[in-house]
Amino acid sequence: MNDAFTCCTLCPRTCGANRHETQGLCGMGAELRVSTALLHHGEEPCISGEATCINSQTGGGGGSGTIFFSGCALRCVFCQNHEISMPTTPQGRGQALGVDDLTALMLELQLSGAHNINLVTPSHFTPLLRTAIAQAKGHGLAIPVVWNSSGYESVETLRSLKGLVDIYLPDLKYMDAQAAARYAAAPDYPEAAVRAIAEMFRQVGRLRLEDGPEGNGLAKRGLLVRLLVLPGNAGRADLALDWIAQNLGRKVGVSLMGQYYPAHRAAEFPELRRGVSQEDYEALVRQMERLGLNIGYTQAVGSSADFTPDFLGAEGAG
Ligand code: SF4
Repeated sequence: MNDAFTCCTLCPRTCGANRHETQGLCGMGAELRVSTALLHHGEEPCISGEATCINSQTGGGGGSGTIFFSGCALRCVFCQNHEISMPTTPQGRGQALGVDDLTALMLELQLSGAHNINLVTPSHFTPLLRTAIAQAKGHGLAIPVVWNSSGYESVETLRSLKGLVDIYLPDLKYMDAQAAARYAAAPDYPEAAVRAIAEMFRQVGRLRLEDGPEGNGLAKRGLLVRLLVLPGNAGRADLALDWIAQNLGRKVGVSLMGQYYPAHRAAEFPELRRGVSQEDYEALVRQMERLGLNIGYTQAVGSSADFTPDFLGAEGAG
């Protein structure tokens, strides 16, 4: 029995659920659940690499070895992954895996040619993942481990991952407490996320890429912060850029995402029913340039779901 789940305080919700008997606010009990595992080609180029072959049977490889965990502690109203973050169907709830199974899955993804192991929305399973990552590294996992999270994390929980995670890929979704309260019932998000991201930066530092003819510009270590621009800049990505430049410096990677589209319950919020305007997005790109934040990525603005994997249709993890 995992003690951390008896009165769970793993994330800033600190809901205190006994996850051996019930679900926490993240929607998960004590059982590790994986929705999907795949070689993903839709992440930032330094994470996904070049798409060469998706056929895991032949070991061709390429792509990010992505494992999507069920449940989420943040649960934004516009979540593009809501089938798994707020699972209401057996498919969405994914498959229960033991820690040893997850270790084996990581090693299988490496064998399939994955550039890294990309753990998506992992935080509420941290104690189990710590063991799985350590076991996988002990059995020859040599590719980087990516912690791909909402940014709504506890510093204490993150500290327990020191030395196990190579690349942190957090969102910084809201720098406005009212927006965080309205869209995720988490007015403490800005404060919690900046503390969490500062801890991530302490652990892994600036983004470093493989270079040279073999490297292909893949990330090997460091921090890459994702800013999903909301319509009308409702999450205040401008304040996020200022915070990054002032507190982490200009060497931090920033991915300015323009791929918002109204998903899940966004239609209930009039201001979220539309896409992001070109004008709003370009103003943020200019701000990045002014601040000297020139390591990272921008995207074409669009209400496209092209890079979002189809969770319910994708092949299962097992
Ligand atoms: S991880 Fe889940 S159960 Fe634990 S404190 Fe957060 S919401 Fe509650």
